[in-house]
Amino acid sequence: MKSKVVNIEEIFGSKVFTRATMRERLTKNVYMEVTKIMDQGGELPPAMADVVAKAMKDWAVENGATHYTHWFQPLTGITAEKHDSFVTHPDENGKMLMAFSGKELIKGEPDASSFPSGGLRATFEARGYTAWDITSPAFLKEDATGVILCIPTAFCSYKGEALDKKTPLLRSMEALSQQALRIVRLFGNTEATKVVASVGPEQEYFLVDREKYLKRPDLIFAGRTLFGAPAPKGQELEDHYFGTIRERIGAYMKDLNLELWKLGVTAKTQHNEVAPAQHELAPIYETANIAVDHNQLVMETMKKVAGRHGMTCLLHEKPFAGVNGSGKHNNWSIGTDNGVNLLDPGDTPNDNIQFLLVLSCIIKAVDTHADLLRQSASDVGNDHRLGANEAPPAIISVFLGEQLEDVVKQLVETGEAAHVLQGGRLDTGVSTLPDFEKDATDRNRTSPFAFTGNKFEFRMVGSADSIGSPNTTLNAIVAEAFCEAADILEKADDFDLAVHDLIKEYLTRHQRIIFNGNGYSDEWVAEAERRGLPNIKSMIEAVDTLTTEKAVKLYEKFGIFTKAELESRKEVLYETYIKTINIEALTMIEMASKQIVPAVIRYSKSLADTVLAVKEAGADASVQAQLLGEVSRKLSDMKSALSGLEEAVSRAGEIGDVREKAFFYKDVVKEAMTGLRKPADELEMLVDKKVWPIPTYGDLIFEV
Ligand code: ADP
Ligand code: MG
Repeated sequence: MKSKVVNIEEIFGSKVFTRATMRERLTKNVYMEVTKIMDQGGELPPAMADVVAKAMKDWAVENGATHYTHWFQPLTGITAEKHDSFVTHPDENGKMLMAFSGKELIKGEPDASSFPSGGLRATFEARGYTAWDITSPAFLKEDATGVILCIPTAFCSYKGEALDKKTPLLRSMEALSQQALRIVRLFGNTEATKVVASVGPEQEYFLVDREKYLKRPDLIFAGRTLFGAPAPKGQELEDHYFGTIRERIGAYMKDLNLELWKLGVTAKTQHNEVAPAQHELAPIYETANIAVDHNQLVMETMKKVAGRHGMTCLLHEKPFAGVNGSGKHNNWSIGTDNGVNLLDPGDTPNDNIQFLLVLSCIIKAVDTHADLLRQSASDVGNDHRLGANEAPPAIISVFLGEQLEDVVKQLVETGEAAHVLQGGRLDTGVSTLPDFEKDATDRNRTSPFAFTGNKFEFRMVGSADSIGSPNTTLNAIVAEAFCEAADILEKADDFDLAVHDLIKEYLTRHQRIIFNGNGYSDEWVAEAERRGLPNIKSMIEAVDTLTTEKAVKLYEKFGIFTKAELESRKEVLYETYIKTINIEALTMIEMASKQIVPAVIRYSKSLADTVLAVKEAGADASVQAQLLGEVSRKLSDMKSALSGLEEAVSRAGEIGDVREKAFFYKDVVKEAMTGLRKPADELEMLVDKKVWPIPTYGDLIFEV
């Protein structure tokens, strides 16, 4: 079998307005200015913006583009675009020239009144602005609409308040850079001009057959199954994880990779995940805001490519009850622009001290703001994972691995770490801090926030969610810790002593957040409670963390969110929760009343007919009669649960206050949904498969 060989190096980034493309198409002067702003910040003068816009447009048009869009990330968690063609007014001869100005490149004004703003923008002042994020490259998106030039942008209100996930992220990256620079300067690094947060998100997803998907209103409207008895087989044999990839899935992955590579996304790792029909894709890590953009492209491309293969990609955190859900491990590290990863233990005692200071600042940050970190990883779907027995628990803790934990213990107990475990080399040169081996950490899959050699892996994030918020939060809390440390150390007379004391102090005060054991165990829940660590069980319980005194102080100090922006985000979160659960409840009501109940009625009728016929024929119909009795009983249970859910939804409709309403959905409506699901799933086990109106779990996850 011959297949055309694709030159990956050639197609990589072919749909991206890369630096190389810019170098080819811009004068040296303009190119230097643009890249300088990309690297160091600043604003492009209008005349230069025109030049860049023209080059961008020419490149896009040569590649088939007809339109451009400011591509942005509103608080819906996905991306938004409004296309404008390059078409201009024809001249008197009817001749038209395609054009694109610097102004159009830099700023857009979508009528954005229908995006969630949480009260920041009244509908009468509907204006929202999109502003070019020069640090994230423009790219071409190709689908049935044609080729569209996409310009990554931030989205703000008329008054400059953030209405998106991008703006606060960019603000947090700046704050982190400024504060981290103060730290590296203290250790004699005079070359670095900025510190960059890098992110590598591992994306999990499910693939189901499209025909079957279309027969499930719950998958269509809610993205997850709301009914469904377990299949005889689940994931217990552990035969799917890292298993051989089937042909149909393989063809999908191949196509997906190609599309992503063209978009400059470094799709790197692919494998089958724990649940049947579940898979994962991980790119190579990159600068946080680009990683956030690229993760959106990954999710979008996953869905698009699935369609071409007769499948649907489910990104929901819990599409199927009883089997593994999907998350997104957010690998995060910070490094200087002169190549030092601050989370890399390093080779010299000096590097080691810097590393230990950074580490203790992060431990302090995570302990101080565990609630915010938890909040940043919450969304409606993730409530089915966090705290359930598969994903990390809802309790934030830090995993350091045996070696580092031992060092921390020694430092806390004696103020010195005189030796390292696992035969690592001991360096007693300057202070009493040892060298570490880089890969001396073991894995702990149950930890929500694990140190993995030279990065932290934040494992709570949901598969469908933007990674904007988790990274904004991480950057912000660590910036604060760096700032507080720098404030002290910059003033110290004896720097070595001061660093040493500060490390010891931070570790001593915040060691309760360190946990190396099994995060899934009940003992840990009890232990965490003893340690006073927050255990926030649901998305809406986490919402309040956004406006505590310490949260407002943190975000306002570093200019990441104003109090008003935080309030607005709370509003949006409550509303999102309410709407999502409401859709789920209505979908259940519809499926129950229009599909499941009628099917069961038909089935019981046929059972009743059978009972009569068998009796009339003079034989024993007790088995049939017993089954009929059982089906009828469950049908009646189901009918009353259905009425219960209908009533709960209608009561919810009467509540005005969003917070109260959201809690009502969580405590009453969701309970009523569980109440309806139970008899329905039991009926599924009793009723003839031929009359069951929707594809089963077995059909959906084992027959892709
Ligand atoms: P695993 O979690 O299985 O060890 P990898 O080491 O391959 O997997 O990394 C998973 C993700 O972490 C990838 O996206 C990878 O690019 C990213 N990653 C690796 N090193 C770093 C780093 N220093 N900073 C941020 N992300 C990183
Ligand atoms: Mg990982």
